[in-house]
Amino acid sequence: MKNSDLIKEICLQRIQKLFELAEKRIKQDKENSKKLIKLAEKISSYNKVLIPKKLKEKYCKKCKLILIEGFSCKTRVENKKIIKHCLDCKAIKKVYLSSKSKVFKASQSRS
Ligand SMILES: [Zn+2]
Repeated sequence: MKNSDLIKEICLQRIQKLFELAEKRIKQDKENSKKLIKLAEKISSYNKVLIPKKLKEKYCKKCKLILIEGFSCKTRVENKKIIKHCLDCKAIKKVYLSSKSKVFKASQSRS
């Protein structure tokens, strides 16, 4: 394994850990949770490691709040996309669904 690969691997692990922590803490301390996400973003940009798509979809780009249905966001499913309303800064996040995803299939069968 190359040295740069190793760094990338470690960064990804850290980012994942930070997201886990942020998710755990969000219900006690929103601001602390936001700080953790900001830190994850810093690690990602400093080391040129992209935050995995799955994690990116989890937080509000504007205020860095983890979006949890019913707690920090409202979710709507429109054709081929999930629309998340952040309750903290009122930003809208759109997540486009691939045709393979379960939610997509569910929304198709309903209509
Ligand atoms: Zn927000």
